[in-house]
Amino acid sequence: TMQIFMPLNFLGFVYREIRGALANIDNLFGLLETQPDVKDAPDASSLVVKAGRLEFNNVSFAYQHQRPIIHDLSFVVEPGEKVAIVGESGAGKSTLIKLLFRFYDVTDGTICLDGQNIAAVTQQSLRQHIGIVPQDTVLFNDTLYENIRYGRPDASEADIYEVIRLAHLDTFVAELPDGLQSRVGERGLKLSGGEKQRVAIARALLKNPPVLVFDEATSSLDSHAEQHILSALRQAAKNHTSLVIAHRLSTIVDADKIIVLRQGRIAETGTHVSLLAKQGVYAALWQAQQQEQ
Ligand code: ATP
Repeated sequence: TMQIFMPLNFLGFVYREIRGALANIDNLFGLLETQPDVKDAPDASSLVVKAGRLEFNNVSFAYQHQRPIIHDLSFVVEPGEKVAIVGESGAGKSTLIKLLFRFYDVTDGTICLDGQNIAAVTQQSLRQHIGIVPQDTVLFNDTLYENIRYGRPDASEADIYEVIRLAHLDTFVAELPDGLQSRVGERGLKLSGGEKQRVAIARALLKNPPVLVFDEATSSLDSHAEQHILSALRQAAKNHTSLVIAHRLSTIVDADKIIVLRQGRIAETGTHVSLLAKQGVYAALWQAQQQEQ
């Protein structure tokens, strides 16, 4: 019997491993994108985050040698601050997030969390401390309850109800015939983009990491859904260091600092008000978006 059960056990193990890995990566950059070979240093330590200060120091990066994408970039997100990164398509916004998660190693410079170089700590400990609300959230073929619980498998039911409320999913859940026990995913209930993003926010709230990354979906939502997400996001950002990649500037008018990226360099930085007064790149982006509406 051992010989029959071993492979089945092993398959179960592989399945759980893959599912676990997917939940962690949260389909951040698409399932099909292969992960490059980033290895833990032999003496890698565990990241310890108390305050949550994030620092990019003279970071440069190229996917291919001939084509540098990020050039000598430096900025700091102080503990508890909300910093937004904006810029036209291809400016390098997603690349910065991939570097923060250490899906790639920087070519030059360092990225530090509470003074620890992320290249010197284990990738597992790094990713434990960062939560992501991705553009497109993957829902598993399971109940809505389980899908939210992925954020922190040992969460209690009370914790889960709490984050559902904070993520403004309570009304949505109340209207489902099977409530939280409704099956979602490919073979279940299909959620709208806005609902999926709120599930991702609920997961992130449950995980409660010191650093939170919000990758705003490019597809526009109706303004009601957008307001819901924004207030859920504000909840999530409370007491967290947060980095927001914004496509709609209306999302980030309240950011402590806005970094305007252009071709992998910081073109401008400031608050919404100070950047408008500067009448530069940001002001032009803002005016263009106002006219679209
Ligand atoms: P968007 O707003 O469209 O998402 P972005 O500002 O996030 O754009 P990035 O995705 O960071 O931009 O891309 C920056 C540059 O890096 C682009 O020129 C892109 O073509 C290039 N790039 C992105 N991913 C890869 C990759 N895996 N291999 C090679 N080049 C890449």
